[in-house]
Amino acid sequence: MFDDFDKSFYTYDKLVSVSKELEKQYGDILKCVTIGKSHDNRDIILLKLGLGQNHMVCSAGVHGRESINPVVLVKIVEYYAMLYRSHEASFKKSKSHEISKLYKSRKKYGQILFRRCVYELLNTYTILFIPLVNPDGYMIALEGFDAIIDTYLRDVCKKENISYNAWKFNGRAVDINRNFPSKLWVKKNDLDEAASENETKALIHVFNQFKPLGYIDFHSRGESIYFYRSTMPVEYNNRQLSIANRLADIIDYVLMEPEEEIDIGDSGGNTVHYFSENFNKPAFTIETVEEDADFPLDPDYRQKVFDEIKLIILEFGSLII
Ligand SMILES: [Zn+2]
Repeated sequence: MFDDFDKSFYTYDKLVSVSKELEKQYGDILKCVTIGKSHDNRDIILLKLGLGQNHMVCSAGVHGRESINPVVLVKIVEYYAMLYRSHEASFKKSKSHEISKLYKSRKKYGQILFRRCVYELLNTYTILFIPLVNPDGYMIALEGFDAIIDTYLRDVCKKENISYNAWKFNGRAVDINRNFPSKLWVKKNDLDEAASENETKALIHVFNQFKPLGYIDFHSRGESIYFYRSTMPVEYNNRQLSIANRLADIIDYVLMEPEEEIDIGDSGGNTVHYFSENFNKPAFTIETVEEDADFPLDPDYRQKVFDEIKLIILEFGSLII
C-alpha cells in the first residue's frame, strides 16, 4: 500500500510493488496481472478491481511525462478496495439502530453513501485499471535516458533531442497516442506503422478480451474533456456530449470543442478514437491538472486529481450501464 501518497516520486518499480501488495491485501476483489512488456522489458500491469460482470477501462501514463495520473489511479484502486471492504464489514457487524445513529450526522451520512455507491459499483463492474501504459516513457521522464536499459533504444531516444522531463513517447520514441489503427491515423514516416508498439497491442488486447462498456484515458494537462469523434455518427456524439457534460459539471472541467478533436497538423490514432470506432461505446480523454502546469508535474497536484477521479469513475459507471 502507499506509505506516503505525497512523497516526491514513485518509480515504476514502486508502483508495481504497491500494486502487488494491494492484490495480497484485497485478493478477494483485486487481481494484478501483466498484459504485456514494454520495449525495454518492463511489465505493463492491469489491476482488475471488483466482482461485477460488466467492464470498463481506466488507463493512465500513455505519455511518459504525465506522472500524476498513474500514481493517482493506483491510489484510487486502494481507496475503492478499502471502501468496499469496510462497507461489507460494517453491515455485517452493525445493528440497525447503530446505523441509524450514524446517519444522523450529515458528514458521516455522506461518507456512508459514497462508500455504499462504490460497493455497488464494484458489484456491478470489474474495473480494469491500467495505471501505467507506458512504463519506459514514465521512467525516462522521471530519471533521464539512462533509465532505458537497452543501449540501442537509449540512443534512439536521445537522438530526438528532447529534454527528458518533457518526454511523451515510449522507449522507441513513438507516441502511443498516435499509434492506434483508427480512421484518422496517418503514416508519419516510412517506418511508421499503426499498432507497431507493444503498449498499443497490450491495450487493444484488453479491449478485445473484455469488450468494455466504456473507456476513460487520463492525460495531463488542461482540466478538460475530449468527447467528439468526427468519424462517428451523430447519435454516438450526442451520447458522448451528454455524458461529458455531466462529468465536466462534477469536477468543473471544460469540454473541448469538436474542431479541437485533433490539433492542426497533428494526426489521429488515439486510444479513444480506436475504442470508439471498434466498440461503439463511450470513450473519453480526460486531461487532469491545470493547463499552465510545468513539467515535471508537481506531486502536489495528486490530491486534487485524486478527489476528481474518485468521483468521475463512479459517475461514469452509472452513466454507461
Ligand atoms: Zn497525454
